[in-house]
Amino acid sequence: MIVYKSEEEIALIKESSLLVGKTLAEVAKVIKPGVKTSALDQIAETFIRDHGAAPGFKGYNGFQHTLCISTNEEVVHGIPGSRELVDGDIVSIDCGVIMHDFYGDSAYTFAVGEVSEEVKLLMERTKASLYKGIEMAVDGKRVGDIGYAIQSYVESFGYSVVRDLVGHGLGRDLHEKPEVPNYGRRGIGIKLKEGMVLAIEPMINLGTRTVVQEKDGWTIRTADKLPSAHFEHDVAIRKGKGEILSTFDFIEEVINKQ
Ligand code: MG
Ligand code: MG
Repeated sequence: MIVYKSEEEIALIKESSLLVGKTLAEVAKVIKPGVKTSALDQIAETFIRDHGAAPGFKGYNGFQHTLCISTNEEVVHGIPGSRELVDGDIVSIDCGVIMHDFYGDSAYTFAVGEVSEEVKLLMERTKASLYKGIEMAVDGKRVGDIGYAIQSYVESFGYSVVRDLVGHGLGRDLHEKPEVPNYGRRGIGIKLKEGMVLAIEPMINLGTRTVVQEKDGWTIRTADKLPSAHFEHDVAIRKGKGEILSTFDFIEEVINKQ
């Protein structure tokens, strides 16, 4: 069942989504070689609680942390821990918060120090693909239009789209209907209508689209161990143009100063 949101509810999702963007910006300030991923998690949790919200992932299906931190060949759901970031890594950080009963959910892939040109392009194009998808997040389009826009864009560079994990509706639950695959066919799937809020989140691999789960029960990585990038925005379906509720502005302000 798809839960349609009122304007008041969309405003609350936006508040939560903005807090996620601000949290990721706090994390961005300390991303550098030598930093433990558990330290990033601690910064995020403190920042979220200081702003009157709670981490959205902590306790979700038994996940014990605030952030999912996935490096290089890890796609999503990486567990913060004692691993230290290394120059040349990329690190995908996914963050959720819950505030006033509504979730925000957004993700960004960061470069640690100097990253190879090939991997930098993967990151840039994965982010660009997210906006291609968002262009289709309009009343009257279909879920398949979003997936097609993302897939056709990234495959033109020889990248592949992860199929085992998908975007989703967002609201009082972290994962609501409909599923929003990052691949698909134009004109196919559930019709998008005003009142829907979607988390669109392409996970794009340099090599094979096949992924496997690590023995920790959470971390998803590419089968060929080539890198993967992940960007996520929360979007309210509108007539004419979707409204992006989350933001990368705070993050990119920090990155551009570094
Ligand atoms: Mg997320
Ligand atoms: Mg999500």
